[in-house]
Amino acid sequence: MNAPKYATRCVERFLEYVKYDTQSCEDSETFPSTPSQLDLLRQLRDELLAMGLADATMDEHGYVFATIPATSPKPDVPVIGFLAHVDTSPEMSGAGVKAIVHRDYDGGDLAFPDDPSAVIAFADNPHLANQIGQDIITASGTTLLGADNKAGVAEIMAAAEYLLEHPEIPHGPVRIGFTPDEEVGNGTKFFDVDRFGAYCAYTMDGETLGELQVETFSADAITVTFQGFNTHPGFAQGRMVNAIKVAADFITRLPRDGMSPETTAGYEGFVHPYMVDAGVERTSVKLLVRDFVTAKLKDMEEQVAQWADETVAAHPGSRTEIAVEESYRNMKEVLDHHPDVVENALEAIRRAGLEPAVEPIRGGTDGSRLSFMGLPTPNIFAGEHNFHSRFEWISTGDMHKAVEVIIELCRVWEERA
Ligand SMILES: [Zn+2]
Repeated sequence: MNAPKYATRCVERFLEYVKYDTQSCEDSETFPSTPSQLDLLRQLRDELLAMGLADATMDEHGYVFATIPATSPKPDVPVIGFLAHVDTSPEMSGAGVKAIVHRDYDGGDLAFPDDPSAVIAFADNPHLANQIGQDIITASGTTLLGADNKAGVAEIMAAAEYLLEHPEIPHGPVRIGFTPDEEVGNGTKFFDVDRFGAYCAYTMDGETLGELQVETFSADAITVTFQGFNTHPGFAQGRMVNAIKVAADFITRLPRDGMSPETTAGYEGFVHPYMVDAGVERTSVKLLVRDFVTAKLKDMEEQVAQWADETVAAHPGSRTEIAVEESYRNMKEVLDHHPDVVENALEAIRRAGLEPAVEPIRGGTDGSRLSFMGLPTPNIFAGEHNFHSRFEWISTGDMHKAVEVIIELCRVWEERA
């Protein structure tokens, strides 16, 4: 393994942060959704203060912001930011994480001490082929690791520490932000873009070495409700209209060969029924509608409405109502107006000796929302693999490279100001 260009404590930090149970929770009345996230956020604020970032704060919602002061004599270097979320997925326990460092990976399968039946198979994880000779970190078999997104947290913290210790590296003001509740879709809910005060930001929450994500889906949520007529089933002849059967008919009209998550990839969009709330009187079907072109959402929504209309026409006495709710929009629509945000990130990745891989995300990120809130925010790799799973892994070499990209990116913005 080559020595990292910037020797930082990113791995040590990561191994500390994964010990915090920061699992977020879908149905919570509080913000953050779980109070335990605040333990790590408070710790990060304290570490930033101890490093000498005097303005490090945690606000009443748990957001931690801090500034690395500029070292450049240039007055007009844009303020840039780096963001990571502290919470881990509700889908898998993050309590009592025991990180295992598999030293000098030799290309075999990775085993787990706490579950001998579990294994990360080399054959199923093509990215492992690039990790021979690296140290790989996994959990112990019964929990997730939390590399998503504590790798990003550790990388940003390590880069901040390095920049503070090396004032000879010229850079403008750099903002840092750590956020709660990303995994439950609320990471930006109370994010104060004005107070963050940056021209742009980068989430450090991507997968493979070299990746830069500047395109996400645009997404809406549709609820199609079918109204039937319920009556005692013993006296229902000629009167009952069963909304469950109407909805079932509607669902069979939805496309399967295309326009479905299970049959599309790349830039193809889809309509995806994912939840049914069924009763004879009323049944509602929830659908996700996603495409990279926002205008195409409207076409798909009209198509859904047409299928609903055809369905009720086939079931006399039934009615339908449709409600569309905007979820998020493709960040590219914003980033296209700020080419420097993308260009500089590509340059920083190249300076770290990597080939940039620009991939669309078939989903959304906190950056999709932030971009439309006025903070253009692409996503950079953090080295995370097998998100939300007991089989999560990350290599220490990739983490050092992510730190390098952060530092190079600070330099590039200064150089080009
Ligand atoms: Zn994440």
